[in-house]
Amino acid sequence: GGATLSAAHVLGESARQWPDAVALVADGTRLGYGALWQDALRHAAALHGQGIGPGDRVALLLSNTARFPKAYYGVLAAGATVVPVNALLRTAEITYILRHSGARALLCEGSLLPEGEPAARAAGVPLLTTAAPGRSPSLDELAAQSTPLDAAVPRAPDDIAVVLYTSGTTGRPKGVMISHLNLVLNIDTTMLAPFAMRPDDVVLGCLPLFHTFGQVCVMGTGLRAGARLVLMPRFDAHAALDLMTAERCTVLMGVPTMYVALLQAVRDGGRRPALDRAYCGGSALPARVLEDFEAVFGCPVHEGYGLTEASPCVAYNHPGRPRVPGTVGHPIRGVEVRIARPGTAERIEALAAGETGEIVVRGHNVMAGYLDDPAATRAAVVDGWLRTGDLGVLDEDGRLTVVDRTKDTIVRGGYNVYPREVEDLLAAHPAVAQSAVVGVPDPRLGQEVCAVVVPRPGSAPDGRLAADIIAWSRQRIAAYKYPRRVEFVTALPLGPSGKVLRRLLAEEFAGAPPATDAP
Ligand code: ATP
Repeated sequence: GGATLSAAHVLGESARQWPDAVALVADGTRLGYGALWQDALRHAAALHGQGIGPGDRVALLLSNTARFPKAYYGVLAAGATVVPVNALLRTAEITYILRHSGARALLCEGSLLPEGEPAARAAGVPLLTTAAPGRSPSLDELAAQSTPLDAAVPRAPDDIAVVLYTSGTTGRPKGVMISHLNLVLNIDTTMLAPFAMRPDDVVLGCLPLFHTFGQVCVMGTGLRAGARLVLMPRFDAHAALDLMTAERCTVLMGVPTMYVALLQAVRDGGRRPALDRAYCGGSALPARVLEDFEAVFGCPVHEGYGLTEASPCVAYNHPGRPRVPGTVGHPIRGVEVRIARPGTAERIEALAAGETGEIVVRGHNVMAGYLDDPAATRAAVVDGWLRTGDLGVLDEDGRLTVVDRTKDTIVRGGYNVYPREVEDLLAAHPAVAQSAVVGVPDPRLGQEVCAVVVPRPGSAPDGRLAADIIAWSRQRIAAYKYPRRVEFVTALPLGPSGKVLRRLLAEEFAGAPPATDAP
């Protein structure tokens, strides 16, 4: 007995409301809501035919094509749990996830078989491919031969809909368990506000769907709203401009590096689409980038904050409320945010407005826990409060500002330096296109502030520019904060969702700088 719910209804409900509207533009074709839902129900029937049903976990190794939503909602409709796998992982990493999640099958697209097939073999997990006739049962064929289920298998609200693996930057990847209730409420509470998504919206799907941001905020919210989703297999700024123009996209959702790249592409002569609004999250958006984007594209940019463990939305600058650049706005409905005194592991001690501490979150969006890792779950969720590992501050009006990740804080001679503050400043330097600020070991101070800079086209990355950036910063921020060392790179290393990986840069520049770089 009890209430039943399925995250599959995110698509199912929209198919009932707008059966003939276009849901997806992908792989050069258009697919209506009714057809997409029937395909998902056919996938569900095919999975039942393979003996897979409620309680089972099914791993997906798929890129951003129409197959992703078909398989994703197919697994959910079958009553099983989806384990989306990062399509950039290598065999050993995939094998770990297949074993750890106890997956009953791996659904793998043809182009990803070189990594996926050996992983499935190593983990002893049956492989269903999308295209490899004669090798394994083809998912497409099985689905095509199946009679669609009449309806999605109902689930209890607390049943697990999705297990999302973290990228494992610190230690092994952890499986974040997201319940049907987590997912449905995160989508429903963000669809109306803060994303204000409507059936006449056309949303660019350039974020990877295996990651929570693309999966929930773009695919889940877009499809629930009856909007049209335009999928991009992988982000490229010029291609994105062309696609947004051709498909008349109204909404862009991306991470800051995408905004930087789109601005540069327009400067290089790319066509400017007529966007209605844009949403940015995943890491801090420098104020300069927000202002430039709004000026060039003529649409507001709303920054928000979330994390995989929070399903993922926590706070957003809601349209209709004064947008305050540099902040991530107010918590979404039903979600509380507090700032906790750092280092109080066992209980949450809330700080006052204006004080900086760890962002903690409570509400319907907090994950069910880490799969098979009760110790990590206990450390992350204390009395219902999710410890985010991020530092933040609330203002008197309840608006949240993300200061930085706790573990990226640089401690220079006993003073805390938050890289984000220095990166924000550097974004205003005329020769800086992008920067990442990291701590490097220093024998005297413990850590020194090092700025890794991508120069703007036309600026020569030499000792003179480095000295200029240092002198320029020195005039604008406190003596303990300004970078004493500047390193130039042609591009910053990016994670799977397009976020800058500061950790890799900190490792790369951990050695002593060449003598000429010293100021
Ligand atoms: P992983 O946990 O997989 O190693 P990750 O830490 O990037 O990677 P995600 O869940 O992908 O995990 O991203 C959540 C994190 O992204 C947050 O904890 C926060 O550090 C950062 N973040 C998200 N939005 C913002 C924002 N608007 N400003 C600053 N940081 C943000």
